[in-house]
Amino acid sequence: MAIMRNLSLRRQITILVGLLCIALVSAAAIGAAYIAQQRTREIVMQDAAETALTMASILDRGMQERFREIRNIAEMRLLQQVWTSDPAKTRQLLEQLQESFTDYAWIGFATADGTVRAATRGMLEGQSVQGRPWFQSGIKAPMVGDLHEAALLANLLPPAPNDEPTRFLDIAMPVRDESGKLIGVLGAHLNWSWARERRRALFADPAAKRGKSVWILSGNGTVLLGREPGRKLFSEHQVEAIRQERNGAFEDTTGEEPILTGFAVAPGYREYPGLNWIVISRQPDKTAFGVARGLVWTILLLGGAVACVGLICALGIARGVARPLQAIIDAADQIGRDPEITDLPRAGGSAEIVRLSAALRSLLRRAGMAEQRVAEASSKHEKDITALRHLAETDPLSGLLNRRGFDLLGTQAFEAFKRRGTSFAVLIIDLDFFKTVNDTYGHGAGDDVIRTVGQAMKRALRPTDRVARFGGEEFIVLVGDIARDDIMAVAQKLRRAIETTSTLHGGNWLSVTASVGGGIVRDSDRDLQDIIERADTALYQAKAGGRNRAVIDGLQLQLATSAA
Ligand code: GH3
Ligand code: MG
Ligand code: MG
Repeated sequence: MAIMRNLSLRRQITILVGLLCIALVSAAAIGAAYIAQQRTREIVMQDAAETALTMASILDRGMQERFREIRNIAEMRLLQQVWTSDPAKTRQLLEQLQESFTDYAWIGFATADGTVRAATRGMLEGQSVQGRPWFQSGIKAPMVGDLHEAALLANLLPPAPNDEPTRFLDIAMPVRDESGKLIGVLGAHLNWSWARERRRALFADPAAKRGKSVWILSGNGTVLLGREPGRKLFSEHQVEAIRQERNGAFEDTTGEEPILTGFAVAPGYREYPGLNWIVISRQPDKTAFGVARGLVWTILLLGGAVACVGLICALGIARGVARPLQAIIDAADQIGRDPEITDLPRAGGSAEIVRLSAALRSLLRRAGMAEQRVAEASSKHEKDITALRHLAETDPLSGLLNRRGFDLLGTQAFEAFKRRGTSFAVLIIDLDFFKTVNDTYGHGAGDDVIRTVGQAMKRALRPTDRVARFGGEEFIVLVGDIARDDIMAVAQKLRRAIETTSTLHGGNWLSVTASVGGGIVRDSDRDLQDIIERADTALYQAKAGGRNRAVIDGLQLQLATSAA
């Protein structure tokens, strides 16, 4: 089962449906084959029994005809004088009878003392048959004698073509005169080839024979007609059983190969009392049940073919069931990887697949909505953080960057310089005598002036340059990407912008000047503070130099002259 779990749905369905199909078809085919075999067996056995019965009936009817024939002649009133008249006449009558039925080997009339008076072809005429069983029985009553070898006639008759000893069946009738007095016995020897002939006629159609052979056994089971005449084919117990059952079939397994054996006891017919012969039909099992075997194989092969068709159907069913699922899996696998695929296909198939597809599509929509809400929340969060950062880096009075904001920008510029060598400069601006403004016009006026000066500086600078309030009435400017020679110009531009700006407060126009100190980044600088320090020193020099001027570290002498 663990193996099954690891297989794809398609394989699982194929295997399960396939196995089910094979199991059902096998059960049906084996069942049908068994029933067909049993039924065919019954029919074949019935056929064997019928063959034996037919042969028994043919023999009985044939014998009955002969029995009646001989009796009619013996008892016919018109012929009563013939027996005592000229023997030639009697012989003529008997020969006529023999001609009408050639299987009579000999027909003769013996007088009551046992002397043959007349016989066909004059055979045995004048000889005594007193000791013959047919005469002894026939003188008392009509008789039929079982098969025996020729005795007196053995040398008189032509030999049988197959060198077999001549064998006869005897029929004998007492003959009486008009007064009813016994005058002799009419006896007939029926050649056993008669039975052989009847047997041949049974299988006029050789196709019907199919390896069947019909044997005739005497009442005690001795073979009369068949292989090895004279031997006993069955045990006494078997013969008894056959005589009890009279007609049927069984498998004789006593020989080399099993033989289907049909049997019928010939009981006689009408006036013919019968000799209780046992007729058997023998057919090797192999031939007899060949049809049944063929039928079984046909059914099993058909079953196999049906199972194969079932397996192919199972494959088709599995593919049909798994295909929409596979489409959903493939699409689900691509979501988030392939930007083109944002939704699952609307899969068809069974109701469950349709529901699964709808449920997954709905899940995806809900997940999308949740994602959107998260994105919105995250964007708001980012905005809040940006606003907070802005607040943290902004000077509330002037709206310019505060010292912290400046430090971040300055550090970034310093790192860029270290990495790529992009030069920058720092200018520190301190308003001159600002204390006086506060003292004269009040702190509020001072604040106004700080704001106005800040905006004036911002306007004077390029958008890429950044101005920050460094503390009190001190500002700091980061001038990016600047050549050494241009720094003084920027410093002076700022100084003039402050100088030319007036602030209206309480009806007074207030103006201030500022001193500017500048420093340019150098390779030897360890950090931003090194530059700020140099700028601060330059500012100190500007203150010391008389204020309202700019001093750039390293350019001091030259530019002091130009400022003067
Ligand atoms: P100088 O720089 O030319 O040497 O003279 P100064 O009077 O400007 O001296 P300093 O720079 O040392 O003075 C700082 C004064 O600036 C002190 C304080 O009265 C004033 N000040 C500092 N911060 C503020 C502020 O936020 N608002 C106002 N109104 N005044 C401030
Ligand atoms: Mg100051
Ligand atoms: Mg000052």
